[in-house]
Amino acid sequence: MRVAIIGAGPSGLACALELQRQGVKPVIFERFHRTGHPVERVDVLLNLPWHPVKNQLAYLARRYHLQLHPLAPLHTIIMHSPGHRAVIRSRLGYLLYRGRSPLSIENQLAARLTCPVIFETIADPQALAREYDWVVVATGDSKATRQLGLWLEHSRIIIRGALVLGEFEPHTFHVFWDTRFAKHGYGYLAPFDAGRACLYLMVGGITPADMDDYWELFLESKKLHYPVVQTCEMEFHTGRATGHQLGNILLVGNSGGFFSNLFGLGLFPGVISGVLAARAILRGDNYERLIRPLIQRIEQLNELRCKLDKLDNRGLDRLVGILGMPGIKQLIYYSGLDVIPAIQAALTWFDRLTFRPPPAQPRHH
Ligand SMILES: Cc1cc2nc3c(=O)[nH]c(=O)nc-3n(C[C@H](O)[C@H](O)[C@H](O)COP(=O)(O)OP(=O)(O)OC[C@H]3O[C@@H](n4cnc5c(N)ncnc54)[C@H](O)[C@@H]3O)c2cc1C
Repeated sequence: MRVAIIGAGPSGLACALELQRQGVKPVIFERFHRTGHPVERVDVLLNLPWHPVKNQLAYLARRYHLQLHPLAPLHTIIMHSPGHRAVIRSRLGYLLYRGRSPLSIENQLAARLTCPVIFETIADPQALAREYDWVVVATGDSKATRQLGLWLEHSRIIIRGALVLGEFEPHTFHVFWDTRFAKHGYGYLAPFDAGRACLYLMVGGITPADMDDYWELFLESKKLHYPVVQTCEMEFHTGRATGHQLGNILLVGNSGGFFSNLFGLGLFPGVISGVLAARAILRGDNYERLIRPLIQRIEQLNELRCKLDKLDNRGLDRLVGILGMPGIKQLIYYSGLDVIPAIQAALTWFDRLTFRPPPAQPRHH
């Protein structure tokens, strides 16, 4: 069986490893000259959104044979809204290395590959589909999905990132909400170690030219004046795939919409979709059926995102204030319950009671 995988990111590599494990050697095409994005960053794996999975790394190892080593466990999240700050301490998840480092998730996966990776090649799914039995699209974007007519756009986000130097707490992730510099997006600071961190800002509904102003305001208002080693900027399309297979082409990872708009969480569902695509190919299973629980959870998280989008700065302050209350923290982080539906319901109630628009003023002509 001849299988081509486009993209040597986590989802494509997870797919390749599962095929390899079952005796099929795929060919991987990667546009860069080596594995990993040139600008290193730290991604978080948050346990909470993927209930009932409590420890995502243990789950990936047990269920999908993917042994991944974190950069560090995540012990603390500090949420900043314009006027509040909430500190959450618990076993919250993991910090993971991304990029060219041998420690990165993509290089940990690539180290176990025995199949060829053809670097510096921008591959076209439809051309490969004529040559191979199966083509797995794992390009980390929605370009091919749009070309196949399977993409439903939600929004376009401009992302700016910087690798910064300073003094950081290695197990702590900071998230910043403020509609003045992030609109309905967010900023975050995630540490590589005690001396290096990555600082990101994600803003939807702006042009790349607007980003300078938003970035300045972000750094200024949060006093994030660190020496910058490297920067990057990218455009990301959020949305969903209306289908994940077209003939012999399967969509995995970001290309298949396997990420949640809620904090851009895509690593966990992305690698699972890669393994499930491999299993669908190997066993002749229905891919759409295999991924259905994953898609349902992503849709649930995206609904929560839509509710958060309605909050103004006053609402964000109240939300962060509530999330930091001891009883609420106990319920959300320590009870083991699936709190996502409860948070959603609370936001609907919150929205109705607190943020009703002022009554329209009568018009005087
Ligand atoms: C700034 C940022 C921060 C994020 N933070 C988090 C986080 O904290 N937690 C989380 O869970 N998720 C996070 N995500 C999302 C997560 O990184 C992605 O969901 C995950 O990387 C998806 O993996 P992938 O393999 O689908 O795509 P990618 O990791 O993007 O890999 C795609 C690969 O395909 C290659 N490629 C692209 N086009 C072609 C082509 N035509 N031919 C050949 N090769 C091609 C690329 O070079 C790349 O190597 C973040 C994303 C961004 C952009």
